[in-house]
Amino acid sequence: MKIDLNNFERFEARHNAPNNTQIEEMLTALGVADIDELIAQTVPEKIRLKKGLNLPEPLTEYQFLRQFRTVAEKNKIYRSYIGMGYYNTITPPVILRNILENPGWYTAYTPYQAEIAQGRLEMLLNFQTMVTDLTGMELANASLLDEATAAGEVVHMFHGARKGAKKKVANKFFAADSVHPQTLDLIKTRCTPIGVELVIGDVSQLDLTDETLFGVLVQYPDTNGAISDYTDFIATAHENGVLVGMASDLLALTMLKEPGEMDADAVVGSAQRFGVPMGYGGPHAGFLATRDAYKRQIPGRIIGVSKDRDGNEAYRMALQTREQHIKRERATSNICTAQVLLGVMASAYAVYHGPEGLKTIARRTHGMANLLVTSVEQLGLEIVNKDYFDTVKIKTTPLQAKAIKLLAEERLANFRYFEDGCIGLSMNQTTDVSHIADLVDIFQDALGLNLAIDVEALAQDIAVSVPSSLQRTTEFLTHPVFSQYHAEHEMLRYLKRLENKDLSLVHSMISLGSCTMKLNATAEMIPVTWPEFGQMHPFAPKEQAQGYQEIFKDLEAWLCEITGFDAMSLQPNSGANGEYAGLLTIRAYHEANGQGHRHISLIPSSAHGTNPASAVMAGMKVVIVKCDDMGNIDVADLKAKAEQYSNDLSSLMVTYPSTHGVFEESIIEICQIIHDNGGRVYMDGANMNAQVGLTSPATIGADVCHLNLHKTFCIPHGGGGPGVGPIGVVADLAPYLPGHSVIDNNVGAKASSAVSAAPWGSASILPISYAYIAMMGGEGLTNATKTAILNANYMQYRLKEHYPVLYVGTNGRNAHEMIVDCRQFKPAGIEVEDIAKRLMDYGYHAPTVSFPVPGTLMIEPTESESKAELDQFCDAMIEIRKEVQEVIDGKADAVNNVLKNAPHTQGMTITEEWDLPYSRQKAVYPLPYVQANKFWPTVRRIDSAFGDRNLICSCIPVSDYEEVEA
Ligand SMILES: *Cc1c(COP(=O)(O)O)cnc(C)c1O
Repeated sequence: MKIDLNNFERFEARHNAPNNTQIEEMLTALGVADIDELIAQTVPEKIRLKKGLNLPEPLTEYQFLRQFRTVAEKNKIYRSYIGMGYYNTITPPVILRNILENPGWYTAYTPYQAEIAQGRLEMLLNFQTMVTDLTGMELANASLLDEATAAGEVVHMFHGARKGAKKKVANKFFAADSVHPQTLDLIKTRCTPIGVELVIGDVSQLDLTDETLFGVLVQYPDTNGAISDYTDFIATAHENGVLVGMASDLLALTMLKEPGEMDADAVVGSAQRFGVPMGYGGPHAGFLATRDAYKRQIPGRIIGVSKDRDGNEAYRMALQTREQHIKRERATSNICTAQVLLGVMASAYAVYHGPEGLKTIARRTHGMANLLVTSVEQLGLEIVNKDYFDTVKIKTTPLQAKAIKLLAEERLANFRYFEDGCIGLSMNQTTDVSHIADLVDIFQDALGLNLAIDVEALAQDIAVSVPSSLQRTTEFLTHPVFSQYHAEHEMLRYLKRLENKDLSLVHSMISLGSCTMKLNATAEMIPVTWPEFGQMHPFAPKEQAQGYQEIFKDLEAWLCEITGFDAMSLQPNSGANGEYAGLLTIRAYHEANGQGHRHISLIPSSAHGTNPASAVMAGMKVVIVKCDDMGNIDVADLKAKAEQYSNDLSSLMVTYPSTHGVFEESIIEICQIIHDNGGRVYMDGANMNAQVGLTSPATIGADVCHLNLHKTFCIPHGGGGPGVGPIGVVADLAPYLPGHSVIDNNVGAKASSAVSAAPWGSASILPISYAYIAMMGGEGLTNATKTAILNANYMQYRLKEHYPVLYVGTNGRNAHEMIVDCRQFKPAGIEVEDIAKRLMDYGYHAPTVSFPVPGTLMIEPTESESKAELDQFCDAMIEIRKEVQEVIDGKADAVNNVLKNAPHTQGMTITEEWDLPYSRQKAVYPLPYVQANKFWPTVRRIDSAFGDRNLICSCIPVSDYEEVEA
């Protein structure tokens, strides 16, 4: 027998789960001869790509990881003293391995199904507690995209919170020029479209009596490293009805008087330096803390404490959890995916170190800055900021700075070089005395000095140099969780205990329609924690980041090939942020063409809630377009509205295939209508998993589209983030893609201002999507799409006898997802929620509940699930349907039944007495497979309304909680 020596193990066969036998069985069930026949019945011929994707030949996992090492090594890691919101930090190995490198944490979804998400909900509650404690505020959300976008949210929040006379006249926001430049850039981005006048200047010169002023942002410690007390400033601001936000630093706040003590109205920042690698810009958890009074205005998700049916404490997302879906164009922000995994890491860091450990790290960091000051003052250099935490600005002439830069880079160190010629140096957790000695040497050698300075000796005598009026006097992190887990065994077991409460992809298929929970392959994840990617500062010189630059270039080119677009921006760090960025690009294009008045955005009624929310943030007026009974866009209504607004039409936002899981036949005509009326087409690319290799956004006629790399391109959901939402554009929009104020990100002179703090957004997770494409190749990706469509249609085949399938294409096929209707059970008292909760008893996470149609489930299996898994899930759904029938037929009690009582916990079943009208076995082992692999929800059905009435968003002892209830 001849041996094929090139027959290596293909990654495609690991990613696309059904094997050939299973594919044959599914095709037979669907009555088609081959998969291409099915695709022909599903994807309209006129939008099909005429040729295959032109991508590099696929690599095996082994080949990829070997070759990728050489790419990684092109990143040269210098010691970073740049600061500006990004610092070296030590990820405790117990956190690195058990959270960041652990699929039990990183493959989970946003905790909508709270009963099977108590682990990460608890850690997010820790995050909120950590942020509220350290900032001294009353309330914090469970992460935002980054520090700069959090500052942008403050502008919106303060604008929305204007009261009295201010509501009518105040339209001015002031940002101190001592705020980090990337944050200022983002505030600029946010202000312009909503018509807020932004003034950037010296805060000491600000006239707070200006009646047009509604809000201020200052930074503390500021971008120059200076710290000062804003108490009097804030008091004056409040006398004048002006709200004050502060950008701050959690590590500094362990030592410094907290913003809450100064009476700040909001505090933003990043939790990066709490154990999350810099990663060339992200992802990291931004935070926003504020007063309780603004709990209805705060953007993003808030975790709250509630109780389950037995009265036990239980966590779930509170208040505005689904706020864009409910409020749409009236939503306060478009945040959907946030930074859960990074928030979890940062709070684990605080749990592990505790208040004393954090103070020690902070004091040492501050002490290093003090040692540096003491040393360089002996060189005769002047320090610009007399009071500091960790950052020192040193006065140098431009000529001196040039010599220092040359030498520093030779010795593998990056400093911050200010425009005024000064040099900035920020200390961090990894800095030690020898590093300070190196710094002193660099200064001496560059300036031609040769003084005898004994840094080691000076180091013996370093004290806290923060003025006493700025020292923190209050306690923080007093909740027991921050003092119980400092031994590694305790921590390891705490993390495992939380992980075990959560259902993730390590347990079973998570068939969330629209969210595309596919395989996050281990080979894709491995490079993420390589130091060459983790330890790069986002503002390091580009020459040092050649590995990253190569990845960006290739990935942009590949995504352009896949979408058919001409240019790509990797900057947006979520799908919703991509929507915003894309609309701003359209806006800038219209403006450049003298069409700045075009401000109408048409959005179909079936759109995801982030679409209208993003449109409003981008300064658009939303006009809703109707959908017909089949869930398709009502073309006549669209045409009428496009023509009615043709003078002011900016854009259409359209999801394709539709949010109903159907390839609309009329899409080309729809795009044409928009173009004919002077608008541009924004395609929401969340459903790109149904397009790759078969059709493309450019083919259907779109001008811009975002991709959710955390859906279609395998970045794990992280339990609710991180995400990456790059946007692709046609050539004439390319000049207006988001730029960056600190680093040239290659967009050019007409670039729009930034939408993320870092030039390439969440750069350190881009290797995941890169790996996916490199290992799949063009054909593998196309097969993935076909398999996703096959899997979805097979599930439709199995389920349609039991549940009505709402929308199908002309040949009765779905795209990659489908909607099953549960509204017909309502008269019997069974809600879609009961089915979602009952699925937990069967070991499954519910599909998407009530989006885009209330009372339905939207199922998306993806290509990464085998037929065996699909069948098992369908078996569960069919068995549940029988349970519903028992209620309908009166064979089961209308209220006291398996559905209404779901989910069932171990605690309620392993009891002496059992008085429910069905067996324990039926409750928890409803099908044989469950017994072999039982996942136990840890709490019973959670009472959300109770939690919203008694909002508690940080850790408090259960005993206090009882009082609140009373
Ligand atoms: C997921 C999704 C979004 C939002 O993306 P995020 O990354 O969560 O911000 C927008 N539209 C649709 C249709 C989606 O499924």
